[in-house]
Amino acid sequence: STLGFVPTMGALHQGHISLVNRACEENDRCIVSIFVNPTQFNQNEDFVKYPRNEEADISMLSSTGAAAVFLPSADEMYNTGQNHLEFDLNGLDQVLEGKFRAGHFQGVITIVDKFFSLIQPTKAYFGLKDFQQLVIIRLMAEKLHPNLKIVACPIVREADGLAMSSRNQRLSPIERQRSLILSEALFSIKDRWRKDSFDSIIGDAVKKLESSAARLEYLEIIDPETLQTLNDYPETESVACIAAWVGDVRLIDNIILPASI
Ligand code: AMP
Repeated sequence: STLGFVPTMGALHQGHISLVNRACEENDRCIVSIFVNPTQFNQNEDFVKYPRNEEADISMLSSTGAAAVFLPSADEMYNTGQNHLEFDLNGLDQVLEGKFRAGHFQGVITIVDKFFSLIQPTKAYFGLKDFQQLVIIRLMAEKLHPNLKIVACPIVREADGLAMSSRNQRLSPIERQRSLILSEALFSIKDRWRKDSFDSIIGDAVKKLESSAARLEYLEIIDPETLQTLNDYPETESVACIAAWVGDVRLIDNIILPASI
């Protein structure tokens, strides 16, 4: 029989639930983990402030088809001897998020590898919201869990465009409004894609972001396989990735840009 697996850090929202629903549809059984993984946080403050809401999470999951929720303690996950996965990510962890969050992706693959070994799923489900994470987990799974299928799921957004995220809970009403600048920048790039010069559409988006209340960390157009920055229109599909601070909340988002026809 088949087993679908959805790893999460809790504070669940409809983005998570879309993964759970898909995992339930495509497998005989589906299991969800909730674990705020300490080793993937590069700032202790972010770990401490990360939203946690176990009761609401479990109640949300009870109206899905999930067969079980796994809520391990940090002790359970890290007192097993093998506490840091040594794995060469071919530089995929040196760009984008990796530049700003030292050690983050090594923490992610360490915990995800532990979960894969423990749970032995048939398929595991990840959101395109964390595009770089998905690419990195694919690489790790190809090497260490060759029979496991990694399934990529589309980004779920609020009605006004903001990508759903557990961290959105930390935004004040005014910051919630300001955070719209991220998705608006991505949508404007997609709307103008291949219609104006590459430099002008990226330059305009950066200018708008820099004059907004958000603090931009990066806005890059990347190759979806190598994650390398593109400086002109490619013939293939590409991805616009953004990270910015709104108040003391760090947000990321991305959008897929079509290949030329
Ligand atoms: P997290 O709890 O933030 O670690 O996320 C758990 C999983 O849910 C990851 O695979 C995320 O990419 C995915 N996810 C988070 N937010 C969204 C969203 N808005 N749409 C789709 N997937 C999401």
